[in-house]
Amino acid sequence: MVTLGSAPAELDEAASLRVWHVTKQFDSPDGGTTPGALALDDVSLSIAAGELVSIVGPSGCGKSTLLRMIAGLHRPTTGEVAIGATPITAPSAERGLVFQDPNLFPWLTVRRNIEVGLVARGVLREKRAEVDEFMRLVGLEAFANSFPHHLSGGMAQRVSLARALINHPKVLLLDEPLGALDAFTRMRMQDEVLRLWRAHGTTMLFVTHDIDEAIYMSNRIVIMTQRPGKIEEIIEVKLERPRDRGSQAFLNLRGEILETMHFAGQEMAGNKN
Ligand code: ADP
Repeated sequence: MVTLGSAPAELDEAASLRVWHVTKQFDSPDGGTTPGALALDDVSLSIAAGELVSIVGPSGCGKSTLLRMIAGLHRPTTGEVAIGATPITAPSAERGLVFQDPNLFPWLTVRRNIEVGLVARGVLREKRAEVDEFMRLVGLEAFANSFPHHLSGGMAQRVSLARALINHPKVLLLDEPLGALDAFTRMRMQDEVLRLWRAHGTTMLFVTHDIDEAIYMSNRIVIMTQRPGKIEEIIEVKLERPRDRGSQAFLNLRGEILETMHFAGQEMAGNKN
């Protein structure tokens, strides 16, 4: 049994990430001469292998653009993004992506949904035993033959996590993966993601609107400014795990982050409390 308080079991699956002076200027939406959005402006960030880092910032500040760039779906206009020492130029199974919408195939069972990446890579036969292992890991073995419409939102998101992790990504990119869940399921899923992180030591980059979620989960929190997205501050979360959301240290950190965001002129989910 892996506990939340222990060090990651192994880091051999993880890789470091480096974002170096990245700017992203989108093309004009109408194909004309006026430039499109300047989504990122000189963003630099290093993430160590096995780290869990959150990115918070207002809508439109370029969080998804940064994640998609690391996934290899967008190219930087200037600057470079690298995994380990290798520049990222295209998508790869070593970088898994999980979205807010689990995006399961409705006509496939839970087992078949988890197997999708293995089938695409032609390795299902030798990896079949791992499918059972991953279904156990996310507590869905009893639902192997169920279809997505029989699953709750939390269960569907667990399938989505298992589907990404079964490819043993060196980096897992999570774009508001828990944003559509109710508060109670969301907290349970935060522990689930932390448990998977502990078990695999995978480097994780986690976009969220929720400051408490960022504090509860991350080693470090990257605060971005309004568009064009720049990094305002990077805060290290030194609280012991498992973290107590009601502790004074937690609340102090929350206040500190809100203050930073307030000075940066941002409206965030955490402001409403
Ligand atoms: P966030 O994830 O922080 O909400 P995004 O990365 O989605 O922000 O978007 C940052 C900015 O880039 C926004 O102004 C958005 O409209 C623009 N943008 C994002 N993707 C594209 C695209 N494919 N083409 C043109 N503009 C885009």
